Amino acid sequence: MTELADRVPAARNTSPEEDPVPGKPTLVKCLIWDLDNTLWQGTLLEDLEVALSDEIRDVITTLDSRGILQSIASKNDYDLARQRLEDLGVAEYFVHPRISWGRKSESVLQIAEQLNFAMNTIAFIDDQPTERAEVNFRSDEVRCYTAEQATELPGLPEFSPEVVTVDARQRRQMYQASFRRDAERESFSGPDEEFLRSLDLVMDIKRADEDHLSRVEELTLRTSQMNATGVHYSDAALRGLLADPEHEVLTVTLSDRFGSHGAVGVMLLQYRPEVWNLKLLATSCRVVSFGAGAVILNWLIDQAAQVGVHLVADFRRTNRNRMMDIAYRFAGFTDDPCGCLADASAGDTGRVVGADDAVAGGIQRLHLVAGPRPAPTTMRLTAPDLAPDRLPIR
Ligand SMILES: [Zn+2]
Repeated sequence: MTELADRVPAARNTSPEEDPVPGKPTLVKCLIWDLDNTLWQGTLLEDLEVALSDEIRDVITTLDSRGILQSIASKNDYDLARQRLEDLGVAEYFVHPRISWGRKSESVLQIAEQLNFAMNTIAFIDDQPTERAEVNFRSDEVRCYTAEQATELPGLPEFSPEVVTVDARQRRQMYQASFRRDAERESFSGPDEEFLRSLDLVMDIKRADEDHLSRVEELTLRTSQMNATGVHYSDAALRGLLADPEHEVLTVTLSDRFGSHGAVGVMLLQYRPEVWNLKLLATSCRVVSFGAGAVILNWLIDQAAQVGVHLVADFRRTNRNRMMDIAYRFAGFTDDPCGCLADASAGDTGRVVGADDAVAGGIQRLHLVAGPRPAPTTMRLTAPDLAPDRLPIR
């Protein structure tokens, strides 16, 4: 077989939002609009009618379709402004709008906090130089734009992600579903497991196909906190492994009664005669609180137990993936030596698939003797049966 390292392009280990490619600006994850004379023409409390131009409407829907969230920081009467946004048919496009008489810098800060976005991923557009200065005085990382620039925004590189996946196009709806979910969680007084059961969670583990892979790529880029090796696998790298009988690429999606969470996990598994090597496990931080990692690992361990193989999981400590370490330890993986570890690296170049040398260093191999695991109690799981194809040839 061809050496994997030859077939797979070098990988990145950083999220594009946090560490932009040199020469390319950090992508904006949320654009915060002023209303009067910026989003719409006119001043709501002075003019009878304020108008929304077709050009601005286009900007709003274009950015939304690229997965860029939008919000509002406006000094206005909340009820009037909210009603006007409804009447104009654009209210749904804005998450966590801040319409009050308070400082705009405070509104911007609160929106960023609620979304859990870093300030350097926030943009602010306002016709008033004073307001832009006030926001920048508080945080110079926020990128500010004049009202005249509004129609140019979709053409700027910081508003132009290279890949726009299915999940990116649904990002706003997924955030909005998660706000409703959080509100319900806050009002729910029973134990957590009971709350999880009330969500009607359904996890679907699937063998990856071409369609899934573009979603998965975004996931491995975005989930630096929950990527067991910190290694980014490109779309092309995973695509190259789809047809390889020694490898299995699996994707995980999750939904509940509020809607879909989209693609929330990816696994790359390498089959050896006596041992399965989990080369990559990355899950979205959005689903950590649902215990998704444990459900995935328990399913895999149970599958390995049916075939009678050991499991080895590659793990590389980064300063962001402590949660993953905990998930592995909790599932029963240890540092104990075992003969299968040599089997797992047989034929390996000693490099991580798809990783460049700098990234491949420091990989630990965590080991587990697989035993049967019960089905999850907090969600319904559908998954392929890996075992029949994998019973060892004796
Ligand atoms: Zn072993």
